[in-house]
Amino acid sequence: MIYFDNAATTPLDSEVYKTMCRVMKDQYGNPSSTHAAGRNSKVLIEDSRSAIAGFLDAKPSEIYFTSCATEAITTAIHGIVTSYGIRKIITTAIEHHAVTHAIDDVHKTTPVQVSFVRIDKDANLDLEHLEELLNEEEKAFVIIMHANNETGTLFPVQEISKLCKEYHALFLSDMVQSMGKYENLLSDHGPDITCCSAHKFHGPKGIGFLYLRGNTKITPLISGGGQERHMRSGTENIYGIAGMAKAFEVAYRDMSGNREYISNLKSYFVEKLKLNFPELIFNACCDSKGVYNIINVSVPDVYNNKLLLQKLDMNNIAVSGGSACNSGVVNVSHVLSALLANTAIPAIRFSFSKYNTVEELDKVLEVLREILFRK
Ligand code: PLP
Repeated sequence: MIYFDNAATTPLDSEVYKTMCRVMKDQYGNPSSTHAAGRNSKVLIEDSRSAIAGFLDAKPSEIYFTSCATEAITTAIHGIVTSYGIRKIITTAIEHHAVTHAIDDVHKTTPVQVSFVRIDKDANLDLEHLEELLNEEEKAFVIIMHANNETGTLFPVQEISKLCKEYHALFLSDMVQSMGKYENLLSDHGPDITCCSAHKFHGPKGIGFLYLRGNTKITPLISGGGQERHMRSGTENIYGIAGMAKAFEVAYRDMSGNREYISNLKSYFVEKLKLNFPELIFNACCDSKGVYNIINVSVPDVYNNKLLLQKLDMNNIAVSGGSACNSGVVNVSHVLSALLANTAIPAIRFSFSKYNTVEELDKVLEVLREILFRK
């Protein structure tokens, strides 16, 4: 199988796998138990927390383990609105559904006003518009992602963060697609709140965290046994936590080499796609801008674009669709719609990882030529 769907999830790294197997075999104590087996598990959790915090320039006390990013985002959005009495949310139209649906849910019970910062078709965020929206009396809660999962668009988190500080707004940035790929994400100019899902960078599924900077305090979503300093009750997923810490270690150790390697794969593929299929439409930031592992293209009708994803799948190539899928069910992407892309034609997202190769890219190009040029 050629796996070009790494923005959906990534294969587990073999070092992470080994760490997790060791923990699963040897460390069964409940971290809340007071005996030695429990204490060992507790130590493992706290060591993992410190290691992750160290990679991110965060304090261990700012990290709360959750089951995934969706849980972290939901906790943060409900918690911030409730705890800070927020009545004004500023966001964008291209956030992940974990964000958009949590905002919709909050909106059902709380009279929040939701404003959208303007973005152009190349996904440039209008910072002046953000400032205009911030420059109103009400304390704002700004929710703007770092890297977009469909198009790879990167928003300027540091500049947004500076503006939010100036206007005393709270800033949540969904960094799911950039965690494990960039350094200094939580520096002084990082967001107040963010989230992580380990499976996006070769860690296990079912584990993530919520980051709350400094003194940001919120009402938890889940209460019970009081784990995670009462922020997230429920017996901790110790294998997942140890696996996520290992995934961070591997990602940070190999970061610059992997970034260069994957960026080169992306540039090579963009160049070849342009050469072979000049009518393809590159959606937002597919060239030099944007996160270095994602390409999103719309495939116009001049090509044989019917059942494209299914045909790639039949050729053992895994990618994601971004717009109309030709099976009769039209699943229009809110991201591509917001970027004014033509959502009546199919779109494909190719997303790469350190495990992909140029040979795989060439094979996919060959299959695409067979599919798209077939009469
Ligand atoms: N935010 C972004 C940008 C994502 O890409 C994803 C997953 O695709 C999520 C949030 C949610 O992550 P999870 O499904 O692991 O909770």
